[in-house]
Amino acid sequence: MKLDIPLPVQTILRRFYSAGFEASVVGGCVRDSLLGLTPKDWDITTSARPEQVQHVLGDFRLLATGLKHGTVTALSDGMPVEITTYRIDGTYSDNRRPDSVCFTNRLADDLSRRDFTINAMAYSEQNGLTDCFGGQEDLQNSILRCVGEPDRRFEEDALRILRGLRFCAVLGLTPESATAQSMQTHCRLLDHIAKERIGSEFIRLLCGNYAPQVLREYPLIVGQILPEILPMIGFEQHNPHHIYDVWEHTLHALDVIPADPVLRLAILLHDSGKPYTYTQDKKGVGHFHGHGSVSVELAQQALTRLRFDGKTTRRVCSLIRIHDMPLQPDPAWIRRRLSRMGEEDFRALLEIRRADSLAQNPAYRDRLTQLDALLPILEQILAEQQCFSLKDLCIDGTDLITLGLRPGPMVGELLKQLLDAVIQGKTANEKEALLTLAKQILNEKHR
Ligand code: ATP
Ligand code: MG
Repeated sequence: MKLDIPLPVQTILRRFYSAGFEASVVGGCVRDSLLGLTPKDWDITTSARPEQVQHVLGDFRLLATGLKHGTVTALSDGMPVEITTYRIDGTYSDNRRPDSVCFTNRLADDLSRRDFTINAMAYSEQNGLTDCFGGQEDLQNSILRCVGEPDRRFEEDALRILRGLRFCAVLGLTPESATAQSMQTHCRLLDHIAKERIGSEFIRLLCGNYAPQVLREYPLIVGQILPEILPMIGFEQHNPHHIYDVWEHTLHALDVIPADPVLRLAILLHDSGKPYTYTQDKKGVGHFHGHGSVSVELAQQALTRLRFDGKTTRRVCSLIRIHDMPLQPDPAWIRRRLSRMGEEDFRALLEIRRADSLAQNPAYRDRLTQLDALLPILEQILAEQQCFSLKDLCIDGTDLITLGLRPGPMVGELLKQLLDAVIQGKTANEKEALLTLAKQILNEKHR
């Protein structure tokens, strides 16, 4: 077997060999290479101690990223490569970090501190694959298995629980039974982990191809970091538009929406307000009036807690707020939405609506028909570069001032009115037509 190691990484490995040290690529890059995927980053593990690493790579740009834990990042041909000395982790008293680490001369010791068998393989050209824990076989069988005793490993560092689910969601793995059991019994320890680390693992989980299956299988673990989902589970809708409870509906929608963080978060939480707004009419049909705004509050709370950036949070919340709005396959209405939301968010709204509809009762697919009618109109508006924002308007403030309008807030007001007329198709977006209309509006005002 031969892994395709990028040249900048090979350069570093050769340096270690020439200086008489052992060195291999290790962890995620070996796992991903064996799967035929492109590794996100390449990590090296070596017998050289941190000061020796610094000496051997003296002419590289080095960043002392985690020197205390034996990690140095070298920039090789512009590529950051993490180099960590073989180490054994000491005791863990806070469920997240070793109290101390000690260095070792044995690669096998270093591999034994790693979280899962699939992440505990090293590779070098001289020695081929070092796989002390059956990682390659687990990978072939799509199995997630802790290195060593699962309870101890999750007690040491509870983030591993979420990393484990992330690997399941991204790579389609199934945890073997002791690992699965232990992830569930230890999920409360996730409370000890920094929220931003949870947030960044969770979004990777959520964007995995197998996210719906993982969320369905492990709702209590997910509920530990995102309690906002828990009331949805098993909440029956008693409504002919729905054939699933709120949570199953959500998972079906998640299954068909693209793997974009904003889309996935918005669809995950779009109906989270339903359990709080449920009413039943005389016929026993369930309704959820105003659930959108309760879902927005819950999403805001959840995303702030998990330290998502402001832009993501704002986009997710505004999409949830309007996820149920009636869509109109009408050019003026579409231009108005484009003007308010911009193309990116409007397209996101359509994706949410499509996923939401696909996860409802197939007998009520009229909403999809409406979407299909809307899309060609949208594409035409964009292809023709029709005007839906002030910057597309054929006149600007200066033109209005030339017309005799005094500089001030009135100028902006009038421009907005003109844009509105163009969006509604009441006038062409042409300078003469717009100036004529501007004069008319001003005359009417002064009358
Ligand atoms: P990716 O790079 O795709 O996120 P990865 O497995 O490479 O996945 P990294 O955070 O880059 O994740 O970590 C590199 C390696 O370090 C892992 O493959 C694993 O061997 C080890 N590792 C990372 N985090 C932990 C942890 N919390 N506990 C034990 N070992 C870990
Ligand atoms: Mg990695």
